[in-house]
Amino acid sequence: MKSRGRESQSLEQWIPKTSLGKMIQEGRITSLDEVFIGGLQLRESQIVDALLPDLQEEVINVNLVQKQTDAGEKSRFKAIVAVGNRDGYIGLGSGKASQVRTAIEKAAVDARLKIIPVRRGCGSWECGCGKPHSVPFQIEGKCGGVKIVIIPGPRGLGLVASETAKVILGLAGIKDCWTRSHGSTRTVPSFAYAIFDALKKTYGLITPMDWVK
Ligand SMILES: [Zn+2]
Repeated sequence: MKSRGRESQSLEQWIPKTSLGKMIQEGRITSLDEVFIGGLQLRESQIVDALLPDLQEEVINVNLVQKQTDAGEKSRFKAIVAVGNRDGYIGLGSGKASQVRTAIEKAAVDARLKIIPVRRGCGSWECGCGKPHSVPFQIEGKCGGVKIVIIPGPRGLGLVASETAKVILGLAGIKDCWTRSHGSTRTVPSFAYAIFDALKKTYGLITPMDWVK
């Protein structure tokens, strides 16, 4: 997307403020996996750009938010942006501003700071190929009035999901799955956060399969 230019430019001018940022600029940490395995706090969005050069971003939603103030009605825009490397990392963030462009930029930074690893696998009994093309098991996510279930699917199935879900699952690197959703699924922000919530659980759960390994 157009904002990639902005990010790579800001990466060139980046002066790290945190010790993690400095370690990355010195080449002592070279992958985002190390950051997560080490339980290190990610406080600078440039860290994600430095470690995931193939990062892509998509604007999921932009809303006009009206607010009553003493001076009258004030309009602001709220943007939701997803980032991912299509290979196991996904972030979802939001930003508010009086201009659409600024709201998107803030959301893009927030999405980087909220990035998480997604565990993929072949949880599909019809498939059993063992390759990480789907989710490892069925997962559920919730946000607001929306509930979503992501079900492992066989290779070649594709993403059986709504447009918003396809964008987020695709950025995470999931190629095949079924989805089921309940509740006010037309509320795009809640729907997007419900998917993100489900993807967080790929690492949160320990299944009987893990014990066997
Ligand atoms: Zn498979």
